[in-house]
Amino acid sequence: MRAELLLALLLAAPALRAGDLGDEVTFGARRVIRFQVNASSGLRTVFDSGPSDAPAGRWDTLLIQGEMPDPGLRFSASRASGPAGWIELAVKRFPDGRFWARGRFPKGAGALRLRALADGVSADHEVIVYSAEVFEEGAGAGAAAPPPARGPMDPEAQAPSFHARAAWRALPPRQPFTPDPLPWRVTLHHTDGRYTQSLAQSLDETRFIQDFHQNGRRWTDIAYHFVVDPLGNIIEARPLETLGAHTLNNNEGNVGVVLLGKYHSPRSDMPTAPQLASVIALGRYLVKRFGIEPASLKGHRDYKSTDCPGDMAYPRLPELRREFDPAPPPALSSAFDWDAQRARKSAASPNATR
Ligand SMILES: [Zn+2]
Repeated sequence: MRAELLLALLLAAPALRAGDLGDEVTFGARRVIRFQVNASSGLRTVFDSGPSDAPAGRWDTLLIQGEMPDPGLRFSASRASGPAGWIELAVKRFPDGRFWARGRFPKGAGALRLRALADGVSADHEVIVYSAEVFEEGAGAGAAAPPPARGPMDPEAQAPSFHARAAWRALPPRQPFTPDPLPWRVTLHHTDGRYTQSLAQSLDETRFIQDFHQNGRRWTDIAYHFVVDPLGNIIEARPLETLGAHTLNNNEGNVGVVLLGKYHSPRSDMPTAPQLASVIALGRYLVKRFGIEPASLKGHRDYKSTDCPGDMAYPRLPELRREFDPAPPPALSSAFDWDAQRARKSAASPNATR
């Protein structure tokens, strides 16, 4: 019965369970690529990564994202050991310089080599590639974990104030959202992107990530449910009570909360106090509203091999779990036995009570 239902769901909507597909591509110890581009005219190669470490599985799609201050830059990539030759990546660059780029390859395995070409650049600048990932498009279905017992739910619980999708001019989802009305777990991520310094920057970055996920990864919408920036602003991403796309094979009932920034070496952004306070406010709301167990808060790396949410954020999870419990029982409540006290009083003065 259950297997039939699962099969029907998979056949009806093969893309619904997709999400979080990428294998991070590394180049030795180097996790973030930075290179200088000097002003000049004419087409020339300004960066060559050499071969990457070999990703574990087969792949046919490459995605990179980062900062491109000047639009006169092109990226191409090749499989280090393959006949495919160089493939030019399709680049999407936003006016603030954030960009992602995507390339399709014949399906296969092997290391990757990345190259950048400048084609007329007006000023010296630095280009940053925060992340590169490869994956097989359309892969990613797997078994869902069963939901655990939950605590009491309070439909009247008040959510902390957040900036709704309209605030960042969210585009509509590419396909209708899949309802997921009773979340029972929470997963913390980092964006591996900009560590923003103002609400305006955070809204722009959220819009960038939506475009990266919708058109780069070909997902329905931004993967997560909530974005929390270093100033403590909470931004609505995918609507709550719809299925996310942030934790491969574990999106069911899973609220995705993402910190804007890269909380891992080499940049090692630090979570701020207002930011953690906002994550706690969100967590307390989810615990109250849906009866989610605070212990169900995990980091992305608890589900798969990834740095996410970064070495600077991951160690904060135990204290976040403690704080998610909105009303921890007072330490003395079980130590003081009211019945025993009453019994002692009755014994001392038999006529005093009743
Ligand atoms: Zn993550």
